[in-house]
Amino acid sequence: MEHNLAPDELWARACRVIPGGVNSPVRAFKAVGGTPYFVARAEGPFVWESRGRRFIDYVQAYGASILGHAHPAVVGAIASKVVDGTSYGAPTVGEILLAEAICERVPGCEQVRLVSSGTEATMSALRVARGFTARNKIIKFAGCYHGHSDSLLAASGSGVATLGLEKNTTSAVPGCLGVTPNLVADTIVVPYNRVPKISQEVACVIVEPAAANMGLVAPVEGFLEGLRKACNDSGALLIFDEVITGFRLSRGGASEFYGIKPDLWCFGKVIGGGLPIGAFGGRREVMEVLAPLGEVYQAGTLSGNPLAVAAGLAVLKELDVSGANPYQRLTQSAKKLADILSEAANQAGISVQLPLVGPLVGIFFTDEGPVTNYDMANKANDNGAYAKFFWGMLNHGIAFAPGSYEVMFPSLAHTELELEYTAQAAAEVFSSF
Ligand SMILES: *Cc1c(COP(=O)(O)O)cnc(C)c1O
Repeated sequence: MEHNLAPDELWARACRVIPGGVNSPVRAFKAVGGTPYFVARAEGPFVWESRGRRFIDYVQAYGASILGHAHPAVVGAIASKVVDGTSYGAPTVGEILLAEAICERVPGCEQVRLVSSGTEATMSALRVARGFTARNKIIKFAGCYHGHSDSLLAASGSGVATLGLEKNTTSAVPGCLGVTPNLVADTIVVPYNRVPKISQEVACVIVEPAAANMGLVAPVEGFLEGLRKACNDSGALLIFDEVITGFRLSRGGASEFYGIKPDLWCFGKVIGGGLPIGAFGGRREVMEVLAPLGEVYQAGTLSGNPLAVAAGLAVLKELDVSGANPYQRLTQSAKKLADILSEAANQAGISVQLPLVGPLVGIFFTDEGPVTNYDMANKANDNGAYAKFFWGMLNHGIAFAPGSYEVMFPSLAHTELELEYTAQAAAEVFSSF
């Protein structure tokens, strides 16, 4: 039915019954202007909008898709599971298998608990850290996004930044209306890529080991090592928010990629294969503060949902059996995409930076040195160039995220063909910039 409606009509209907027309703010195109396309279906590197127009998709569900959309292994796993019922409120074998698969891939992560989103994972990891250390304060880095729980919504990049909701990027003021000053009173916000002083009141330091919600900002040499040491010295727990980097930077995620072990990990996106899932884990002695063993309460009616678990297991398994090292292939695609965009921009005399971290690519339209923190990212994102790039590429049938604080997610389904086409489009878009 929706195929018969023009996008503007769909948008008007959406806006009537859904606040701002969307169920997650970045989707509303506020940062790039215009009206969002409605997706009808997706397969491999492509999405089709409601009128049947096909886009090469570098959004890939903001990183939830690593194999490409509707991968047969994932579709098959879900289809064969769904007939058995969709949720039971009781333990399942699948939960054991997924927890084992995560712990086996991430050395040091001895126990995990499954939740239904990345937000829940980080929120719960903070509670565990506070319960374990009996300390209150937390340290987060400006520009790192850890979901939308109250105490983490301070200088949090991503959609909050895209919508211009926060200006203060260094001290802990609430990142949005509805978060009271009390709720962030124990949140200390410090600049990314600088090891902060950690007092004895700090329960944990939470960080995106590679920051991918202020554009892409890699950790500078010594940053993660420094955090590890500072946490050891102060007794604070180090939390890696690997909701994007987990099972994407490498088989063991960022902790393997950088060779640094945190005390707690948060996962999401990739491990649900596009279904709602999150997970947090760590050493047994830390995780055992959780109820029913310990006194830190955390729960979920849909936690360990059998369909999400089946999808996640299928993704992890497929990454293991997909032939040539998938991370090497992803990294090559990312490098190629960065080269393509930077060459096209250079040809047209446009200043651009294309930071790379393994399979992740970012883009900043700036000629000022490498962007290493949130203030620099904000400055680089302030010139309107991204919106021009976004619309130019979309008009050529190529979808990037509708906001400059996101990154690009070439998937295993993107081939030379899509990259070649991207190169042609980029040349045309930048030459008429
Ligand atoms: C997406 C994201 C989250 C939040 O996950 P949701 O599933 O959207 O709640 C948390 N941390 C990071 C680093 C993310 O990229």
